[in-house]
Amino acid sequence: MSSKHTPSIARISKATDQLANLRQATTEWQQSDNPLLRLSRRLGTTLILDQQVAMFADSLKELVEYDQLTYRHRIGRQEMVFSIGLGGQHHCEYRLNLEGESYGLITINRRRRFAEEELAAIEQLLSVAICPIRNACQFAAMQQTALTDALTRVPNKRALDESLLKACSSGDRHGEEYSLILCDLDHFKRVNDTHGHIIGDHLLQEAAAQIEQAIRGSDGLFRFGGEEFAILLPHTTENDARLVAERIRARVSSFSLNCGEQNVAITCSLGVATRQKGEDTEQWQARADEALYRAKSRGRNQTRVSDRII
Ligand code: GH3
Ligand code: MG
Ligand code: MG
Repeated sequence: MSSKHTPSIARISKATDQLANLRQATTEWQQSDNPLLRLSRRLGTTLILDQQVAMFADSLKELVEYDQLTYRHRIGRQEMVFSIGLGGQHHCEYRLNLEGESYGLITINRRRRFAEEELAAIEQLLSVAICPIRNACQFAAMQQTALTDALTRVPNKRALDESLLKACSSGDRHGEEYSLILCDLDHFKRVNDTHGHIIGDHLLQEAAAQIEQAIRGSDGLFRFGGEEFAILLPHTTENDARLVAERIRARVSSFSLNCGEQNVAITCSLGVATRQKGEDTEQWQARADEALYRAKSRGRNQTRVSDRII
């Protein structure tokens, strides 16, 4: 009773053997005490770069004594720096390169010189870590792309929503003062209609660059709508935020784009709201938006501060 679709006894027995071998190999893989296998297993559990660096540092500690391990890598606009431990005048340094791409620099410090065998052990561990670290770097780059506006290269609305949520929870927990500025370019439709979308796009990019130069590194700039920007200012009082908004307004109105026969200049209107305790992101944003609306309705090219709700 054999047909070409019925597996033969020999084939079934071969498959059973293969499965048993596979189970055995899986058990060995999961339970192995080999440090390279253990590190490989751990790195495979996450795509988060700092967690991977911490796992690498942890595994290395079991093989080579060191005082400090630092990992540095720039992904897009973000400088990633993870450091574990402190000190040591001797150091070894490894640039993580794979297929012509760089995936960061690892520096290991300690008070004593490194022996050749120790350097070899570090290199063995790195050879296991480099592919997972490459994947984590690529994942971080993709995450950053999802949170970045393609035209101006500043963080987008999704990034703003995340930052506002964080600001609210940190404001409630630690009492930190956060201010929000909404900045809307004036009569931008007219600019597009008169000079075309390409000039409009250049102006948007230049406006983002000007705003960025008017704020501190710890402040956040976001493009959250077509010709709308938001600036999130940690540790900033309402009065200081108003001064920053005025600085932004001055910068935006002072640049112009040369378009052959004429220079095109723009202005912007701004609304400021400092977060009140207990306020959620929508309530906070709504107050900044209301201030912006007043700046628009009272003639544009000006800053208005939200009326506090007490
Ligand atoms: P207001 O002063 O009231 O803000 O007037 P406005 O014309 O700036 O506002 P409105 O909302 O009427 O128009 C916004 C304009 O922004 C229309 C749209 O074409 C332009 N815009 C939005 N996104 C982009 C973009 O990515 N590139 C360009 N070039 N223009 C854009
Ligand atoms: Mg608008
Ligand atoms: Mg506008």
